[in-house]
Amino acid sequence: MRIDCKHVWEHISAYIDGEVDVGLRAEIDKHLETCEICSAVLDSTRNLVVLVADDRVFELPAGFSQRLHARLEKEMETAGP
Ligand SMILES: [Zn+2]
Repeated sequence: MRIDCKHVWEHISAYIDGEVDVGLRAEIDKHLETCEICSAVLDSTRNLVVLVADDRVFELPAGFSQRLHARLEKEMETAGP
């Protein structure tokens, strides 16, 4: 199974929470090694999660993931081959 960036973004919060299954985790790990965009996404999502946890606010701002995904899609279009 090969996964692309969109799969990684779909599962990124579950990945951080350790809720993805072993096979998917391995695929995401492999993808992250070669994809700068997804590594950056993982870093910023992780930082955000830490920040949010520190403030004891467990809900992400409304629309956050939609906005993140919209930005990523744009990034993908402009980053093209
Ligand atoms: Zn990627």
